[in-house]
Amino acid sequence: MQLIFEKSVPGRKAVQINAGDAPTKINIKKQFLRAEDPDLPELSELDVVRHFTELSRKNFGVDTNFYPLGSCTMKYNPKVTELIASYPGFAHLHPLLPQLRMGGMLTQGALQVLHETDLLLQEITGMDGFTMQPMAGSHGELTGIMIIAAYHADKGNEKTTILVPDSAHGTNPASAAIAGYKVVSVPSNDKGVMDMEALKGLINEDVAGLMLTCPNTLGLFNPHIKDICDLIHDVDGLVYYDGANLNAIVGKARPGDFGFDVVHLNLHKTFATPHGGGGPGAGPVGVTRPLLKYLPVSIVVKRKDGTYALEYEMKKSIGYIAPFYGNFGIVLRAYVYILMLGKEGLIRVSENAVLNANYIKEKLKPYYKLAFEGICKHECVFSITKEMADKGIHTMDVAKALIDKGFHPPTVYFPTIVKESMMIEPTETESKETIDSFIQAMIEIAELALSDPEKLKAAPVTTPVTRPDETSAARNLNVSNFCPCG
Ligand SMILES: *Cc1c(COP(=O)(O)O)cnc(C)c1O
Repeated sequence: MQLIFEKSVPGRKAVQINAGDAPTKINIKKQFLRAEDPDLPELSELDVVRHFTELSRKNFGVDTNFYPLGSCTMKYNPKVTELIASYPGFAHLHPLLPQLRMGGMLTQGALQVLHETDLLLQEITGMDGFTMQPMAGSHGELTGIMIIAAYHADKGNEKTTILVPDSAHGTNPASAAIAGYKVVSVPSNDKGVMDMEALKGLINEDVAGLMLTCPNTLGLFNPHIKDICDLIHDVDGLVYYDGANLNAIVGKARPGDFGFDVVHLNLHKTFATPHGGGGPGAGPVGVTRPLLKYLPVSIVVKRKDGTYALEYEMKKSIGYIAPFYGNFGIVLRAYVYILMLGKEGLIRVSENAVLNANYIKEKLKPYYKLAFEGICKHECVFSITKEMADKGIHTMDVAKALIDKGFHPPTVYFPTIVKESMMIEPTETESKETIDSFIQAMIEIAELALSDPEKLKAAPVTTPVTRPDETSAARNLNVSNFCPCG
């Protein structure tokens, strides 16, 4: 596809602006004038419309294709949540509108949504109260670890360390480190879950807490979760639940019942917000009763007269972590989604998410190397077989070949504890037909890897850009004059 600059034809114009009565000569100091005219493309209106429509069609999204990007929960989000979030009464609310004084009724509905979402999330997770302020899962992690730090500071505990399993999402150690803690990694055992003996060896009085994802990034549920929580509590540590992937257990099990003290959820993953490319999101944090006083400012309270207000008088709070109300629109979508599905619907979410992942796991087992045997939860992890590796094939080649077949690749090379990993998360919203066609594509790729590895290594052949240097493409992003040739 040509760049818009390459399509430019000197002298071609889209709109003709007639000379009006506005002054054409304005005196601008020379130092503020640009040295040369800007290099703008010259095109007709139709050229422009075609160019941007073509570009938009190169966009890949859940609304166009299957997107099994492990741990990211790229599920279909019902359009009704978008519709309701676009209602002017919500979409046009200004964060500085008064809460209760004259005109306060304008914000009462929004405060009610925040308050009732808090109650719904309490019911879903078994926690005692939430903040809706954090704007991403990672932001929720930082908030949660700051709450853990506030708890220890309040008690005069001098603790220095947060334990994080080696399979954790990279944001876990990053959040703990930003909050000022030393991060100690806990190894996984040969079953893919936390090694209990190693954990026991690492627990001491310095431990402020442990961050755990369950099911973990291998899609495996840790059977010792209760024991782990007890061990950490024995040294007055707190246990943090990374609930970004609640999709796997929503409606079935509650982290609060396992013994977790702090939980974050990714509303944009589990509860219906289209996401990707870094946003938008919301990562509410829930805590147990003794930790409520440390929640960030402000929280919504319901008064005796039935009205809602924001509470700012929170002496032990960790303070402000986001302006105003957090990402209100995302919380609103989650509220609509939860009410729409109800208890039965949420249970079906996790049942189908887990069923779909296990179906893929069983069907692909003969063709790829399954990282860990047994039932998985919302995602399964494969790697390439030895036969493929012997032909010089890497997981990246499989991922690139999927693009040519119209599928988004799974998450690759993560979790890092599995070599050449592919983490597949189908989510609950895909039909059996779609999943079957993905399985078929994966099987064809596995066969091609052995019969014609060179052809596989040439993929993708259907995209404008084939194999950019992934690191520099991400670190030195330049979308204005990218040259696919080199
Ligand atoms: C996505 C994810 C996160 C981070 O969430 P963001 O909203 O992207 O910051 C943390 N942990 C796990 C397990 C995740 O899947």
